[in-house]
Order: sequence, then C-alpha cells, then structure tokens
Amino acid sequence: MVPRMWNGRSKKPAKTDSGKTANLELAKAPTHASAGRLATPVRSDRREATYEARDRWAEARPRVNIGSTNAKRDIPMFAERYVQGRMNLDGPVSKRISLREVNDDYATLKDGSLTRSSFVLNGNSYPKRRAMNAMTNKGAIKTIATHYIDGAFVESHGREVMDIIRPTDGQVIARVTLADEEDTRRAIAAAKRAFATYGRSTREERAEILRRLHEAASARVDDLTAAMVEEYGGVVQFAALIVQSSVGAFLAAEKALQELEWTRGWDKTTVTLEPVGVAGLITAWNANALFICLKLASAVAAGCTVVIKPSELSSLQTRVLIEALHEAKLPKGLLNVVTGLGNVVGVELVRNPDVNKISFTGSVAVGETIMRDGAATMKRVTLELGGKSPTILLDDANFGEAIPTALGIAFLNSGQACAAGTRLLVPGKRLEAAKRAIADAMHAFPVGDPADPKIAVGPMASQKQYERVQSFIRKGIEEGAEVLVGGEGRPEGLEAGYFVKPTVFANVKNDMTIAREEIFGPVLSVIAYESEDEAISIANDSKYGLHAAVIGTDLDRARRVASQLRAGRVVINGMTDDPQAPWGGFKYSGVGREYGRYGIEAFLETRAILEV
Ligand code: NAD
Repeated sequence: MVPRMWNGRSKKPAKTDSGKTANLELAKAPTHASAGRLATPVRSDRREATYEARDRWAEARPRVNIGSTNAKRDIPMFAERYVQGRMNLDGPVSKRISLREVNDDYATLKDGSLTRSSFVLNGNSYPKRRAMNAMTNKGAIKTIATHYIDGAFVESHGREVMDIIRPTDGQVIARVTLADEEDTRRAIAAAKRAFATYGRSTREERAEILRRLHEAASARVDDLTAAMVEEYGGVVQFAALIVQSSVGAFLAAEKALQELEWTRGWDKTTVTLEPVGVAGLITAWNANALFICLKLASAVAAGCTVVIKPSELSSLQTRVLIEALHEAKLPKGLLNVVTGLGNVVGVELVRNPDVNKISFTGSVAVGETIMRDGAATMKRVTLELGGKSPTILLDDANFGEAIPTALGIAFLNSGQACAAGTRLLVPGKRLEAAKRAIADAMHAFPVGDPADPKIAVGPMASQKQYERVQSFIRKGIEEGAEVLVGGEGRPEGLEAGYFVKPTVFANVKNDMTIAREEIFGPVLSVIAYESEDEAISIANDSKYGLHAAVIGTDLDRARRVASQLRAGRVVINGMTDDPQAPWGGFKYSGVGREYGRYGIEAFLETRAILEV
C-alpha cells in the first residue's frame, strides 16, 4: 500500500512520555448529554467549523506541565475540541482549566491540565489509578487487555499475554492480552446481529457513517503517527503520510459509494448490489492503520458489518485508532476488533460459517492457507499479498532525478512495503553511470531514529525481520552479487535496535534469490538489460505482480512499456497514489482489488429480480 500524498508536510510526532509519575485524578464518566452531543450527526457547516478550529489548534498547540515535573506534553487535539465544546471557549485550552466532566478517555491532573488515559482499559483487572500512573512514567510498560466488541471495550477472555518490543532499542513497551476463539466468536455474533439492521441501511446512512468515521479518525492523527513510530519503527515522514491516507480512506469510500450504480434495470429485470454479510478483516503490521481504515471503509460503504483482526504486532496503533473510531458512535456491533494471533483469531474468522467474507493483507503463505481453509465455508476472499516489484529505468532517463526516485521507491517504509521497487532494471550501456549515481544519491537516505523527520530508513520492525534481512544480504553475497552500498550487520552507532544497512547489490541476475524473493527490508537489486523487450521480460519474470514503476523522458514510450507489465499498478516517473484507482496484484500478489469502487465491489453480491 502507498500513502495518498507523497509531497505532504511531515512533522515530528509529539513525545508521549512525560518523565516522573504524575499525580492523577480519575475523570468522571461522560454525562448522558455529552454522549448525545457527540452522537449527533455532524452537519456539513459544523464540520467545516470543526476543521477550521482543528487547523487553528494544530498551529498553536498548547503545552502543559504534568504533575510536579517540568516535562511537557501536548494536550490531545480531541481533548481540546471536547473541552472547547463543553466550556464554550473560543481559543485553545490553557493549562489552568480544571475540568472534572471529561470523557472517560481523559483525566484531569492535579494542576487542572488534561492528559490522556489511553491504554487504561475499561474492565481490566488493574485499578485505573495505578494504570494511569504507569502510563505517565517514563519507560512505563503499557497494558492492553480488552477487545472492542459490540460497541464497547470488553475484557479479554483469552489469557495469553504478548510483549510489544520497541524496535529502536529492543525494550518491552507494552503487554497485550491476546484474544482467543471465544472472544472471536463473540465478536462474530455481534457483527451478525448488527448486520440484520445495517445490511438494510440506505446509501445516505452509510455515507453519514463514513463521514463520522473520518471525523473521528482525524482527531487522533498525531497520536496515531506517534504510535506507529514507536511501535514498529516506521519513519515519521512515511508514517505521517500513511496516517493521512488512513483517515482519507473514509472520504474516498464515501465518494465511490455515491458514484456506484447500486440498481440497474431493464424490461422486467432489476439488478441490485447487496452487502455480502459479516466480513473478517485481517491486516499486516507494516501499515496496519491504513489497512484497517481501507477495509473498514469499503465494507461499511457496502453495508457489511466487520470483525477486524489487526496484526498482533500493531496493538498500540490499533488501540489508538479504535479509541478514535469509537467516538464515531457507530451502531453497536458494526465494528468489532479482536487482537490475537493468526493461528487462533485468524483461523477462527476464516473457518467460522457466520463470516461471509475475508479481506486479508499479508504474506503469500498465509494467503494460501486462507484460500484453502475458507473453501469449506465458501468464503469470498480478497487477498493482498507480497511483491518483488520492478522499476524500469529507460535508457533516456535523467539519472540525476531518476536514481533518487528509484531509491525512494525501493526504500519505502524502510523497505518494509509490499510495493517497494526492489528490482532496479538499468540499461546495460549506462550501468556504470547508474552505479555512480546510486552511490551519490545514498546520502539522501540516512538511517536512524524514525522519529527524526530527516531520517529515511528506520529499524526493522522486529528481531525476526532483522534476521530475515541479514540472511538475504548474506545470500546475495554468496550467490555472487556485488555489494555496491551497505552489506551485513548494523550501521555504525545503531547497535541497540533492529537497524540494518540500506543495501544495494549490483551485478544481480534475475534468477538469484535476492531478485526472486520478497526480502521486506531496504535491499535493492540492480539488474542490467540490453533492450526494451528484455527489460519488460525481466520485469514480468517474477511470481509476483503487485506494483511496477517506469522512469523515462519519452512519455509515450514509458506508457507503452507500462502497458505490457503484468502488475496491478504501474506508476510512471515517480511514486503516486489515487484512492479511486484499484489496488491489488496479478499472480501470487493476490486475488481481488481494494480502493474506490473496486474495494466496495469486493464486499458486494449481485441480486437479480425478474418478474413474469
Ligand atoms: P503475515 O501473513 O505473517 O500476517 C498477516 C496477518 O495474518 C496477521 O494479522 C497475522 O496474525 C495473520 N495470520 C497469520 N496466520 C494466519 C492464519 N493461519 N489465518 C489467518 N490469519 C493469519 O504477514 P505480515 O508479516 O504481517 O506482513 C508482511 C506481508 O504482507 C508481506 O508479504 C507484504 O508484502 C504483505 N503485504 C501486502 C500488502 C498488499 O497490499 N498487497 C500490503 C502490506 C503487506
């Protein structure tokens, strides 16, 4: 997946931990009136006003002291809006506001300022005060022990606990109680109940829900970006774009929903598009929030209810997102989220006869299992799988621009992107020039702290990913490829976390392991070709067919080459995205499409009614 905008502003996310323990008091539960206020559908003029206010606050975000420490933290944007609404303030919230009646997600500090009590769990076994104190401790380990079922955060039935490790230093930052089959079945039952009503919703009702989801998710973009940076080491410049795309997915789906032809008729025949039913949405960790939002938006637009199984490696991000979406006040049971292991929660979703559709993003190996296991209950499946995408540099390409562009596509999300262009096809007669240009351009891809906006390559998400990347670099060397840049081991000065050296291999043949297998790290293979036909043939000589890029100055020629590539998406002269254009793969890269009307259609059945 790629974020929607590539030239958007990126900024450093707020630091979340404050220092010493803050002295906290619990907030009261929200009043009925306040819940009602938030539940009211937002009229467009009010929405505009909210956006204006949000932008104003984003410009001048107030800082507050926490407890007795001098550490600073931001007041969450949503809290500001909430407080502003309740107290009829015109400007930003100041630290002197003493407020007791705040949403359950927020608490007042002793000095009257607000703090989030995120990761403080409704119904868990920890006293809330203790958990909230822990939350504000530097280095405190967060705890998540609930799932989102039938419109509420409920205690996990599953008891297995998993550590979340910060990839920049290998420290445990959270403990997550994983769902079991029983949690999953409860979520499926809630979704099934909700489908009885939501499955008959009108186009306008669905559009309204999509707008509310967008509004709710927009309120937490900074928190979500910060969680991505911390939890999987996503570089902030990319994570911020992913979050923008995630939030934008709801409005994109609303647009597509309005444009779809829901009913067609001729003579005595009427054909309608009907929601497929309960959908199980299973996501990968590398852009978990985007996958959740994209799949949820399409399903909601189609009239489906959902059970989401996020990647268990993305528990913190998921938590932030679901807290945000909870504020959209959806009909109970429409959205359910159970965080657990693939071989427990995922398998239950795939095998359960009350789930009609699985939309999956992840590896080919798991995709194959889902197709096989889903057959027993005749599941509809969408599979968004891996890639080994080619970037073709045509011989008229201007290397000064083309090489940095190609490297940017290769090192997307620190190379942990399904669309990463990890095979660079270079005209043989310009190979030496390309190698020099690559070596020169590498300074624009510094590796380091993902929270630093200047950093282009962060750590790998896990120890397993780190080892996987190292093993492929070793394999490349063993098979005779030339290490042009990088190589085995950690970059100097970054010994603590799961950092790898961005690596470019030259002298690669397309039958080498590093040219055939998806590495999912910042490792690029440069492959020489002799003619345009050979470039096309090498590009297509892969079991994958997800994404491809063509770079050259003659646009007609670039288009001609693009039209011969066996890939679900081909970009010309740079990475770009269009949320209405289909996303998905040829061959082993998957089955079906997401985005826009294509994404909604994947959650629909067709019904024809014929009169005599
Ligand atoms: P993965 O296949 O290991 O896991 C993906 C999800 O499937 C996780 O939530 C996991 O818990 C779950 N799962 C595992 N076993 C399962 C089972 N038996 N039944 C049901 N669910 C199960 O993939 P990953 O490591 O999380 O992600 C990396 C892969 O995802 C790469 O191959 C990448 O290319 C691919 N990906 C594809 C796209 C795309 O749009 N095509 C986007 C992002 C990532």
